[in-house]
Amino acid sequence: MGGGRRTLGICLALIWAILYPDLGWAQTEGKDANGSEIVRLQLPWTHQFAFAGVYAAIAKGFYADRGLTVIPLEGEPDRDPVDRVLSGDADYGISETDLLVPLAKGAPLVALAAIQQHSPKVILARSDTGIRSVHDLVGRRLGLSNGCLPVLAYLASEGVDLDLVQTTERDFTPDALINGTVDALCASEADDPFLLNASGLDVVTFSPRASGIDFYGQILFTTTETLADRLERTEALRAATLQGWDYAMTHTREIAEWIRARHGTRHELAHLLFEAATLRPLIASDLVEPGYMNPGRWETIRDTYARFGLIRRDTDLTGFLSGPGAGTRTVLRTDPRLLYGALGLALVTLATGGIAWRITVMNRRLAREMAEREEAEAQMRDSENRYRTLVESAPYPIVIAGLDTDRILHTNARSESQLQISRHWARDKALSGFFTDPDRFRGFRDLLKRKGQANSLVTQMRTTGNGAFWADVSASIITFDGEPAVFASFSDISETKAMEQRLRDLAETDPLTGVANRRRFLDLLEREMERLRRYGGDLCLLQMDLDHFKSINDRFGHAGGDVALRHFTTVCLSALRNCDLLGRMGGEEFAALLPGTGTRGAMLTAERLCAAIRSKPAVDGNRTIDFTVSIGVTDIRLDDNAESALARGDHALYRAKNEGRNQAVGDLEAPSAPPDEIPEAVEAAASLDSGPLDSAILPPLHQG
Ligand code: GH3
Ligand code: MG
Ligand code: MG
Repeated sequence: MGGGRRTLGICLALIWAILYPDLGWAQTEGKDANGSEIVRLQLPWTHQFAFAGVYAAIAKGFYADRGLTVIPLEGEPDRDPVDRVLSGDADYGISETDLLVPLAKGAPLVALAAIQQHSPKVILARSDTGIRSVHDLVGRRLGLSNGCLPVLAYLASEGVDLDLVQTTERDFTPDALINGTVDALCASEADDPFLLNASGLDVVTFSPRASGIDFYGQILFTTTETLADRLERTEALRAATLQGWDYAMTHTREIAEWIRARHGTRHELAHLLFEAATLRPLIASDLVEPGYMNPGRWETIRDTYARFGLIRRDTDLTGFLSGPGAGTRTVLRTDPRLLYGALGLALVTLATGGIAWRITVMNRRLAREMAEREEAEAQMRDSENRYRTLVESAPYPIVIAGLDTDRILHTNARSESQLQISRHWARDKALSGFFTDPDRFRGFRDLLKRKGQANSLVTQMRTTGNGAFWADVSASIITFDGEPAVFASFSDISETKAMEQRLRDLAETDPLTGVANRRRFLDLLEREMERLRRYGGDLCLLQMDLDHFKSINDRFGHAGGDVALRHFTTVCLSALRNCDLLGRMGGEEFAALLPGTGTRGAMLTAERLCAAIRSKPAVDGNRTIDFTVSIGVTDIRLDDNAESALARGDHALYRAKNEGRNQAVGDLEAPSAPPDEIPEAVEAAASLDSGPLDSAILPPLHQG
């Protein structure tokens, strides 16, 4: 070991002596005053609750009991814990699953324990940047640090081209996001949101778990050399650290206060407690033993990184997972009280072997009842935990809110990304506030209260980013944290809705000309007549039939006839106003509905249309197709129904045909409309006489 290393050792011992005076002055290199071996553990970040297990093991003497004095080395932004351990500046380190990258390149690393079953790494983006999905990160500035590989894998899995994201190095504070130097940060959901929330900045959270990227967080590791040389010490360090985690998660306040007292420069107590609460489900220590690692899950992590080209596909995990404690141990924890209970039961049975059978039977029954009760309790705890895990890993959005209070109690990662919320922010917000029509949701909830289950509310929901989407909501009533709650799951059906609309449009549109078909025209006619009855005003109807169309087909073929039909539509649409409705009633028969147009205006429009058709033939290749149109005009009256109005229009059209075709004839109650009511579009129709009709751009489908 060189002089530099020795100096570093002495400095550490000095710091250690100041921080932990009760442990005494370091006297021998590698040993402290009590003869315990000094072990350096490199943390990836500054002191905070994320390393609570280490502090608990120090505070409660779990390391000391095993002859170790562990010095936790605070992280520095440009120092990768893996580098520190590989270079010998630290004996052990804590890293994210990023350590697979150096491993893939041949670094001799060994994983000892996975402290967090789920990595807390997420992306936090400023709401005011308009970033609404990870795809919006393209061209934006994203602050990254060591440990952000899970987040990069997530972006890659969502198809984001990482080369197009401007990445910069972030420090240990979220200040860059607050002052706008970056648009988004790779962050820990257990840490940064606390300060961001305090700063009042609105952020959107994107969690890799929303897209199924669910990796371990905080891997305790060392080198294969350290493992081989110091197997016993390594096992002792691992066991004491995990014992520390067990303690920390059952005594969060005590350890938070300890961290605050010893290393309180950065985090206030409330921040440490926020971390503790957020980390709890990620560590999942009530579900699995702290530190548990599953080789299969590691293979999935490796394969995911490999899929996105972040590491080599053939990276060998054999040596990496051969440290103490690695392997496939029982996943679910058993309550030690059950074991003691069983042991006690055996002793009781033995001791009372000779006593009268009644007592034995009584004892047995009692013991059985006790065991059954314990088992039932354990099962309930187990099922509650499983249930939380299921909600968390469900592939669809779930929100749990108080049944009567409407306050959000829990959200899963999918709902957070769908609604663009963070878990912390959403807590206690009103669930009904996420519905565009909150009253509809309240009605749905009343139904839920009556029936206990309510399905398929199709409604619009909104995101914090002012976006809205169509949702299909189902809900049931559950008990959550002892209170009756709505368990609401929903799916985004915006695409299905849009598809339905497209199909509806298709079903209501004439495929040849693109205008409303007969069914749509009649629907809108009814609607306009209803409006007329309610609000009064003028409404006129034109019924149009192309003249001698059979002979057009005979002369120019059916395709030529089609060209003429489309040409006729183009001319009409150019001449009519946007609020008018043109429909193809069948064959070569069309109708137009002119709201707000009196009889005089309607007659003028019809006459100008006849003139425009007459003067500007359709062009099909090098042939011109001359044709004319006859139009019957009628005004719609208050006592009309669609049938009577159409019959009158037909009658007028019949007269136009009989009296020589190529003209407009009215069946009108009384001439109306002073000239100022003559629609502007009539002028347009008149000007068509001189304009190039074939180049007219088809305006959008007139729907009235
Ligand atoms: P009239 O002046 O009395 O209205 O004579 P007409 O020949 O136009 O009358 P009729 O109703 O007897 O004939 C309409 C023709 O329109 C018959 C049919 O072949 C043709 N037709 C109907 N739909 C289409 C179509 O989609 N494309 C083409 N090219 N022709 C069609
Ligand atoms: Mg006809
Ligand atoms: Mg005809």
